Amino acid sequence: MRKALVAGNWKMHGRIEQNKLLLDGLLTQLSGLPEADIDVVICPPLVYLAQIEALIKGSSVALGSQDVSRFSSDGAHTGESSAEMLADLGVRYVIVGHSERRSEHDETDDQVATKVVNALALELTPIVCVGETLEQREADQVADVISRQLKGAISSLRRSEAERLVIAYEPVWAIGTGKTATPEQAQEVHAFIRQYLTSVFDEELSQGVTLLYGGSVNSTNAAVLFEQVDIDGGLIGGASLKSDEFTAICRAA
Ligand code: PGA
Repeated sequence: MRKALVAGNWKMHGRIEQNKLLLDGLLTQLSGLPEADIDVVICPPLVYLAQIEALIKGSSVALGSQDVSRFSSDGAHTGESSAEMLADLGVRYVIVGHSERRSEHDETDDQVATKVVNALALELTPIVCVGETLEQREADQVADVISRQLKGAISSLRRSEAERLVIAYEPVWAIGTGKTATPEQAQEVHAFIRQYLTSVFDEELSQGVTLLYGGSVNSTNAAVLFEQVDIDGGLIGGASLKSDEFTAICRAA
């Protein structure tokens, strides 16, 4: 019922030549994949968005940004790019509240909420990231942390806005560490996120929202993660930089 989604988050990786090679490989390998079954999104660094937009034109791959400004109007905001500018460039998805933005840029739940609103206002699909640190997991605080992050980011949305969200569960301890959550651990949190959505909105909305898992997903562990009932796809970091790996993950979804 929910369509699978796999998004590649390149983080701060890429060069013009390298990007072209990666995309050439990807588009060739992905060409057999049925568009009706899966959405594939590439989120390159901001400076390469226009290059990637040109490369994926005419393909079924969609463009995503790794962030969006919390400011919505043009003005004196050095270094910022608004949702309107991203939409202007052909961007369709925006990663919001990634744990690296939260930890390296002190991004708060309030700022994440503002970014979600800005993205939605321009018809961009926000991919809202939530996830606990290892200390929080060991202190048995997973449910508290996830509900706090969700409450901060999405609880004030209207239903018609919330149904357009994608939510990515990314345990911080699994990101870039090679240490994936077990399918059971991931499923448990995904089910919790659906419960949360049901409590704030309703069951129908909750069952319709796409939930991704992120954190050291690779071609070996993808299938068993994506088999879980509440996991609809993945947000892929390191493995999205290799066309073979990324294609295999898309196939697993
Ligand atoms: P990873 O990153 O796949 O390299 O662990 C995932 C992410 O941070 O989105």
